[in-house]
Amino acid sequence: MANLKGKTILIGKEPGQGRLYVAVCGKVAALGAPGSVPASVSRCIPQQNVAHAQIEVDHQGNMTITNLKPANVTYVDGIEVMSKRITPSSQVFLGRDRYNLDLNTLLATAEKIVAVAEPASAKEFNISHLRQVWDDFHQKTIERQKHQQKLGLISSAGMLFTVGGGALMALGGKMGLDGFMQDLMPYLTAMGGIVFILSFVLRSKDKSIENTEKATEEFQDHYVCPNPDCNKFLGNLSYKLMKKQYGMQCPFCKCKFIEK
Ligand SMILES: [Zn+2]
Repeated sequence: MANLKGKTILIGKEPGQGRLYVAVCGKVAALGAPGSVPASVSRCIPQQNVAHAQIEVDHQGNMTITNLKPANVTYVDGIEVMSKRITPSSQVFLGRDRYNLDLNTLLATAEKIVAVAEPASAKEFNISHLRQVWDDFHQKTIERQKHQQKLGLISSAGMLFTVGGGALMALGGKMGLDGFMQDLMPYLTAMGGIVFILSFVLRSKDKSIENTEKATEEFQDHYVCPNPDCNKFLGNLSYKLMKKQYGMQCPFCKCKFIEK
């Protein structure tokens, strides 16, 4: 569907043979068996821009079907229309005999015609901006890891105080240790407990999982093939490695990558 954006598809009866003609980019394909399209469907002559109806696909991918001659009839979801927004699941019939247009086959055929007429491999797209996209993602990942380490340290310190304080207290009790040291121990234990609780609070407030998901999603939305017909995610590869791995060509649409 992507390569049909901005295109107009002409639909009608093949002159003579009576198959369904699908024309786009000045090229045409015939669908169905000879004679399968009734006479009430108007002819499609792409050279003269003549057809029964046309489907315009805008740059957002929205489709509008238009009946091209007042003498023609086109039905969408049971209603006769002159022009109507449609989706691939719309029921479209052409002519008084209600020839059932298989929209999915028609769109797939139009896509194939465009793919041959305008191959992506002949197109070049600048990828320089992807270096920044990767660097930002990488930087955020490192920051999150550092934050996690910090939380881990606080929690370990708490554990150390609590366990250490408790052990000293037990030891001190056994050895009959008194004075300053013994007085200090409960405080150590209490402090450990506080740090321990603090680390729990910090962890419960920690948004790092949500942040990771958000950053990953954002990265996957932006680290994509710059060909608007493709826009596929290029994978978790550094900018440098990605260029090397793919040989400056999109692995999906085969367009050429250039750096400006
Ligand atoms: Zn691509």
